[in-house]
Order: sequence, then C-alpha cells, then structure tokens
Amino acid sequence: MQELNIEQLVFSTVNKCLNHLEKQEILDLINKYYQGESVASLIEEYQISVSSRQFYKAFPKVNLGKCKVCNEMKEIELQSRSKELQDIPNKSPCNICNHVEDPYYCSCNFCKKKREEEKAIKHKEDLKLKFFSQKFKENYEEKLDLKAKLYLGLLIKTYQDETDNILLDSYSLWLKDSKPTPTVELLEEIEDYLIQNYFIVPDQDTPAQYFYLNEEDSISFQKRNVLFQVNIIPFDGNFENLVMRLIYPNSDEFLADKNFCYRMWKKIGLEILFEHTSIQLREFNLMFVRKKKIKQVYTYLLNHFSVSQIFHIISMSISKALLLDSTVTLDLIEQYCEDIGTKAIANNSDIEPYNCKVPDNIITKMFFYNVLNISYLGMSEMPTMDL
Ligand SMILES: [Zn+2]
Ligand SMILES: [Zn+2]
Repeated sequence: MQELNIEQLVFSTVNKCLNHLEKQEILDLINKYYQGESVASLIEEYQISVSSRQFYKAFPKVNLGKCKVCNEMKEIELQSRSKELQDIPNKSPCNICNHVEDPYYCSCNFCKKKREEEKAIKHKEDLKLKFFSQKFKENYEEKLDLKAKLYLGLLIKTYQDETDNILLDSYSLWLKDSKPTPTVELLEEIEDYLIQNYFIVPDQDTPAQYFYLNEEDSISFQKRNVLFQVNIIPFDGNFENLVMRLIYPNSDEFLADKNFCYRMWKKIGLEILFEHTSIQLREFNLMFVRKKKIKQVYTYLLNHFSVSQIFHIISMSISKALLLDSTVTLDLIEQYCEDIGTKAIANNSDIEPYNCKVPDNIITKMFFYNVLNISYLGMSEMPTMDL
C-alpha cells in the first residue's frame, strides 16, 4: 500500500487507545504496520493497550477525497494488512454508491451501466463495419424495371430539397417525414423495396448508432436517420439527367407494358380506397385496420368499378349500416360493399360515380398524370389494360 499522509486521516474517528499519541505518531504507526513491522513490537513501542487482533481496528478512518461518481466524501476503515496486499484506495468501495476507482473491477451501478454502454457502442460499430463490408449490387439505369423507376422517381420527388445534393458521381436523399402516398403502408413498402434491392444505400458516414440486428438476425438500420445514396449508374453518366428522367417518367415507356400499368393502377386504387375508408371511419371514431377480407372485397370491386364508383358504394354501405344496424363498423362496410357491388354486377346496373378529384398525393398524381396520361379518368374509369 502507498504511504498515507496526515491529511488523509480522520482523527475524530480514532480509537481512544491511541489518544495518547500525537497525530504524526499515529501516522507513523499506521505506515509502519503496513510496511510489515511486527504488531507486538509496535504495541510495545507506542505503549498501546490493545490486543494484537484488534490492533488495526483502532486506526482512524482514511479520507480518500471525493467519490468520482456520486461526489460524496469517501471515508474508509482500514483493513488488516493480510487483506491489504493490494491497493486500498483503489479497491475500497464508496459507502454511498459502492464505486471503486478501478474501472474494470468496480461493480457499482454507474460503472456497470457505463461498461454496458461501451459494449453496445462497440456492437453497433461492428454491425456498421460488417454492413459496409458487403459489396452492394450495382444497378445500371438501363436495366431498371418500371417498378423501380416509378418508386425511385417518387422517392426523389418527395424527398429532394433545395440544397445541392447532386454531385458528379452521386445523388443523396434523406427520408424525412412525408406522405407522398395515400397510405403510410404503401410508402413503407416502396421505401423497403428500394432499400432491400440496394437501389438506395446508406451513406458510409452514417453514424454506427443507427445500425441494429433485426428479427431475422441480419443487419438493419433506422432509415429515417440515414442519408441515402441513390445506387444507380445513369446510362449517360449524368445524375442530374437521371433525376429528371425519374421524376418525370416517360409515358410511352410505361404504356408499352400494359400489364404493369394495369396492376399499378389497381394497386394505387386500392390504397386510395383504404385511405378513404379510414377517413370515413374516423367520423365514427373508429380506426381502419387493413384486413384480408376488406382487401379482397375492394380488389374484387376494382375489377368492375372505378375508384369513384366504389367511393359511392362505400357511402351507400355506411348509410345502410346506419339504417339497419344503427352503427358503423369496418365489418359492416365490408359486408355491405360486397352486397351492393355483387348485386350491381349481377343486375348489370350502373353505379353513379362519386364526384371526386384526383387525390392530392405525389404517387397518384405522378401515375395518373405522367405515367398513364389520363388525369382524373384514373379515378372515374374502371382500371383497364386498354390504355
Ligand atoms: Zn460514491
Ligand atoms: Zn463504479
């Protein structure tokens, strides 16, 4: 043990059997004891009336200064030298918070938490390193399919800002909070599709804290905290041109694939119907839940009716529920929509379209105006391949 000095001793706590000694004598006595002098000869030399077993217990407490964790004064009782082969000040716990100075040895709550945090940071850094050690697939613009082009165009149109984020060899995007689609679910699907296929990839400078292991044990990241790079190689090598081509899609290119256009029309139509139903239900303080059955009913209706006709069917089904059941639920809307729709199809009767505009969201506008070139007909006409 390091030699103690006189300021460290708390003389008010000294045992009365040492009262006849001067402060300096008490200090010398303690230091001699820890240097290994025999207890019997010390008792004799300093004329102390104490048994050799009780000897070290007569020592005053030692003040070790302020605890670095709780900031309280740390006073310890000295232990027998047989225990004190190691460093007392570093190994003695604070009596308030239990902290000891040795950070590896200490098991106080503060140090435990600190070690866990350090471990977590290390873990995140390892994940980031592993994530970027994989080689991302290269995507050539000329090989992109229509879905990727439409989704990328949507994302760029939605998230681009006024800052100059087009560099010669890259284009970056933040996925901020925005609603460019009728439903949040569709936006999530689009973003995840682009991320999973490496059409957009996180920037190398992404802080490690945003990486984590997902349920499938693969490395994921919090996409709203990440700067993304558009991972597409433009066919002319020019990112500015690529962005223009994506945000203003070429109608002819899309219309050459009627099947894609038809499927996307129905897909967007379905999301518009979900959004509309959700707004209707809110009037009755109800939440819309995406269930398999409602999806089936609306998909079926879209084979026979336009979106705005189905708006009308929904409104009729709400009136019917109020009349017959004096309440409105999603199940009743779904049931009556199916009834009304099926009857109209069987009787070959027409359903009046609901007077509605093209919904004010980017994907619907992009798709009906730029891709299909049909504007409001996207709402008032039944989805068809005949484009
Ligand atoms: Zn403490
Ligand atoms: Zn500690």
